[in-house]
Parts: sequence; C-alpha cells; structure tokens
Amino acid sequence: MNKFTVYFSIIGLVYYGLNKFKKDIMRSKIRVLFTKETLNILPIYKFSGEETENCTICLEEYYKDEELRKLPCNHYFHILCIDRWITNYSTSCPNCNNYANIIAV
Ligand SMILES: [Zn+2]
Ligand SMILES: [Zn+2]
Repeated sequence: MNKFTVYFSIIGLVYYGLNKFKKDIMRSKIRVLFTKETLNILPIYKFSGEETENCTICLEEYYKDEELRKLPCNHYFHILCIDRWITNYSTSCPNCNNYANIIAV
C-alpha cells in the first residue's frame, strides 16, 4: 500500500462512518435538543392580552405585549421558560408533546 491508498481508505472509512451515523439518526429518530443558535428559528409572538392565558411551564399569566415564543404546533410560552425547556429537558412541546425541533426532523 502506498501513501495514497492509505489516504483514500481513511477518507472512505470516514465517509462510510458519517453515512452510517446519519442513517442511524434517521432510523432511531434521535431528537436533537435546541441550542442557543437554533432557538432563534422559532418565532416570537406578542401576547395580545385579549384573554387570560397561563404559561404551562411556570403557571404565570401572560401580560399584554409580553413576548412569547411560538412552537410549530402553535402553542406559545414565555421565552425564558420554553428556551430553558427545549435546550435542557425535551424537544417536545410541554402542552401537546409535538416535536418542536423542525430542523432535525
Ligand atoms: Zn413561563
Ligand atoms: Zn404544542
């Protein structure tokens, strides 16, 4: 084996490994937690204040014009509450259990 064969076998192995890893992720549906960066794809919503609603995480009522974060399932929560939730505990909405991370699906 010369240097190039070694080099290309290593590339091949790495490539194969990455592909296998990707397939494993798809198959097992590993759910990736949000990071500070990926969080920002979730829209911010300003509470209208027309009705009384509580945040299901901290149970505090929202006040008018408070900024909330909206998940793809249309549930919204305090930005601080949901950010902590989806970066540390779970990738699912605390209300309906729908998957919140639309990037890694
Ligand atoms: Zn809250
Ligand atoms: Zn939900």
